[in-house]
This record gives sequence, structure tokens and C-alpha cells, in this order.
Amino acid sequence: MPNPACIAVLGGGFSGAMTAVNVARISDRPLHVVVVDDRGSVGRGVAYSVRRPEYLLNVAARNMSAFPDEPDHFLHWLRTRAEFEPLPEAELREQFVPRQVYGDYLRSIVGNHLAGDGHRPCVTTELITGEAVDIEPGDGHCLVRMADGSAIAAEKIVLATGNEPPAPLPGASALGDHPAWVANPWQQWEHRVPATGSIAILGTGLSAVDAIITLCDLGWQGPIHAISRHGWLPHAHFRGIEYPEFPPAGVDLVTLGLNDLRRLVSQHCAELVARDADPAIIVDKLRPYTQRIWGNFSCEERREFARCDAARWNVLRHRIAPEIHDQVMHARRTGALQIHAGSIEELQAVDGAIRIGIEAREPVVADLVINATGPSTRFSATRNVLLRNLLASGLVSPDDTDMGIRIDRDHTVVNAQGDRSASLLALGPTLRGTYWETVAVPELRVQARRVAETLLGAVPVDVEEEGQLRLEYML
Ligand SMILES: Cc1cc2nc3c(=O)[nH]c(=O)nc-3n(C[C@H](O)[C@H](O)[C@H](O)COP(=O)(O)OP(=O)(O)OC[C@H]3O[C@@H](n4cnc5c(N)ncnc54)[C@H](O)[C@@H]3O)c2cc1C
Repeated sequence: MPNPACIAVLGGGFSGAMTAVNVARISDRPLHVVVVDDRGSVGRGVAYSVRRPEYLLNVAARNMSAFPDEPDHFLHWLRTRAEFEPLPEAELREQFVPRQVYGDYLRSIVGNHLAGDGHRPCVTTELITGEAVDIEPGDGHCLVRMADGSAIAAEKIVLATGNEPPAPLPGASALGDHPAWVANPWQQWEHRVPATGSIAILGTGLSAVDAIITLCDLGWQGPIHAISRHGWLPHAHFRGIEYPEFPPAGVDLVTLGLNDLRRLVSQHCAELVARDADPAIIVDKLRPYTQRIWGNFSCEERREFARCDAARWNVLRHRIAPEIHDQVMHARRTGALQIHAGSIEELQAVDGAIRIGIEAREPVVADLVINATGPSTRFSATRNVLLRNLLASGLVSPDDTDMGIRIDRDHTVVNAQGDRSASLLALGPTLRGTYWETVAVPELRVQARRVAETLLGAVPVDVEEEGQLRLEYML
């Protein structure tokens, strides 16, 4: 009997793991599914591998099911844990659960569907720890080249490589392994916190908040400087604000275009501020339309939004658990946390410390500097060896905005010649140019299901139907 077709999923974070799980759950033909991850613990990825219990999810439990077709799956799983079992349902739904616990949830799904017997009997699975570095197209199948010299033969390959590390900053390359420099906030740095002095965090977004919370938890007593272009910290989640005036009746948000949309949003944000309400409610109300609005923007509008509006959008959109927000605000009120608004001009080693030059401001000198500026978004500058090799060979190409991989509607990669790839598909944060919103679980679970359906030759999800799905599960 011939070997079953092989699907190789490269990247074992949420996106890759859940693509493999969906294939294993729904395939009715013989398949071998291989998940390759360089970090080893398939399912957790970068976000849910955290070792520290103080990091909470920034999405309420009710919206964190890994399966779009089972919206309460995560809530049911939480009930199996002693600390969540006695909570009333309404309270459980609104919990911001530790990210570590969410990682346990994903591991249990992987354990059941990929390592256990929760997959279809016709499917076999394999989890490989290692780095994929290149893909060679062959006759009817491809070879995935691994860093250790081995190779995996597969008919279909899914690129699920996740977020890029932060983009390089001026002067950072000269810092190399300077003891005061943390180039990647997602690597362990707690053991490098000095006994005294000051600490600077570059960035004021979600990764910066993680670092602030950890420093508070470690009992750090010195000053914390957080530096970003605008100096905006994420808002807290809130509930229960009614604002039926948005979107206004008769206005088609999807076809409005960037300038008119900006005007409309500014007008309604001002109205909410006048009512002493949080303008972020407008971002929530836009979310069921976001992907379609983005899809309707011209390439120039997408680029302009990314250049001029993204910072404001992100601060309203990526909100944090109220208890985390309270801690950050407390640190700010007591003066422990100082925010500096201005572009970072240069980083320079000064003996054991680092000097941070800030445009039109006094420089900050710190004994530990953590780069939490957020993932790099220029795809052609990717530092992922696999993606660089695929770009060089033309097997993948940047989308028009150069924010990510170019794909077709069903997630099939479009190569440098503009043709649909015979073997490659992609999902996750590398699709920012196609979807804009493509980073959180509520979006990624839909993508994981859709990629699985494409792999299995199922009918692609209709756009309207997808819109409904998003409406249902994202609010
Ligand atoms: C700090 C943080 C907190 C977050 N909190 C939330 C939250 O509360 N709620 C929410 O909905 N979303 C949250 N997110 C968004 C999060 O990115 C997504 O939920 C999701 O985890 C992304 O999964 P992914 O698989 O696409 O990417 P990743 O988690 O980045 O996984 C990609 C994996 O692929 C591996 N990889 C990459 N290249 C290769 C290669 N060549 N060979 C082998 N392996 C490779 C990487 O090492 C990694 O393990 C958070 C993100 C971060 C960074």
C-alpha cells in the first residue's frame, strides 16, 4: 500500500497546532500530519510558554475557545481545574485567565488530538522538535530541509511561523550580548535584573506591560522608564457601555474609504469622550467589519493606515485585563513608572549601562534595557531563516504592503511569479497585510479551521459566512 500523503506544519504555536488538530479531527482520508517547532512544546508558542503566573490573557475566557465551532470549549475545560470549578458561570466567562493556564489548555488539546487517540483513525501524527530552514519543491512532493541536516518529505506544507521578533533599533547591533541589553522580551531576562539602578523598557504596548508587571512582581524598587513614540499605554477592558449610534444607520463602513472612515470615527470618539465614556467602544463596534474594511482599502490606504493610524488603533484595540491595568496605573501614580514619549534615536553602551537617545528629550541611561517594541512588520526584512530562504527562491512573496506573506482567499501562498503555490499555505500573524487583524485567538482559530478545510479539499468558507462567524465569536 502507498504511504499516506504527508502534511507538514512548520511552527507549532496556536496557529500551527490548531491547523494540525483540525486536520486530525476532520480528515476522512489517510494522512500523516507532522508538526515541526523549534521550541519543542507544540501548542504553547511564544505567548503561552510563559513561566510566570502573573501574565494574564488579554481576552476574556468566553472568547478563547480554540475551536470556532465549539465556542464554550475553553470554558468547559476550565471547569476541570479546581480553581475555576466553583465559579458561577457569569463570572467564569469574564475571567482573564493566566496565559500559563491557557498554554496548559492548548497542550491538552494537542495531547488528545495529536499525541493521544482523539484524531480520526485514518490519520497518523508526529511532533518534531527542530528548525525548518528551507523547502525544496520536487516531483509531487516537497522536501522540508531542517537545520540539523535532516529532511521531511511532504505533499502540503503550512507556514505557521508566528510573530517576528522586534525590529532592530539604531545602535542595537553594536550592543551584541551587552549584559544590560535584552533584545527579545519573550526570552528569559529576570535573572539579569540588577540589584540597584534603573531599568528602561523600549515600547509601551502589551510586551512592555508584561515587563512592567514582572518587575513589580520581582519587587524591583528602582525607577522603570518606558519609552515609545507616543507614550500610550494599553487601555483596560471594560463592559456594559451601550452606544447604538455606531455604526450609523445607512452607512456602509466597508466601502467608506480611509478618509471618510477616519472622520466618522473621530466624530464618534469625540462624542463618547464628551459623555465621559471610553472611545475604545468604537473599535469594538468596528471589529466585525475590520477585515472587510481592510480588504476594501486600496494598497495606498492600507499603507497610510499602518503609517498614521496603527498606533492609535492598537492602543484602543489591544486592551488588557483590568487588574493588570490597575497595577500599571499604580506604578505610574507612585512615580515608579515614568513614561517618555519620543522616537528612540540611538542606543549606546556606556560602561555597564546603556544610554538611550530620545528625539527632543533628555537621554535615559539604564542598567537594564528591554526591547519590547513589538514584532517587526516589514516582511521582506524577516529574520526567520526559513522565510528568508523562501523569499530568495520566490516560493513566497510579500503582499502589496510588505507586511506579510501574499496568499489567495483560501490561504494558498502566491509565489513571486504571481501563481498559486501547488504545496504551500500560510496563516497567522504573517498575514497582517491581507487581514490586518490576524494575531489573536478569535481570528486565528477561524484561520486554522479554514486552512485545514483547504488542505482537505473542502469548499472554501464564504466571505459572508465568515463575517457571521466573526460577529458571533468576537464580540
Ligand atoms: C506576549 C503575548 C501575549 C499574547 N496574549 C494574547 C491573549 O491574551 N489572547 C490572544 O488572543 N492572543 C494573545 N497573543 C497573540 C498570540 O500571538 C496569538 O494568540 C497566538 O499565540 C499566535 O500563535 P502563532 O502560532 O501564530 O505564533 P507563535 O506563538 O509565535 O508560534 C509560532 C511558532 O513557530 C516556531 N517557528 C517559527 N519559525 C520556525 C521554523 N522555521 N521552524 C520551526 N519552528 C518555527 C516559533 O518558535 C513558535 O514556537 C499574545 C501574543 C504575545 C506575543
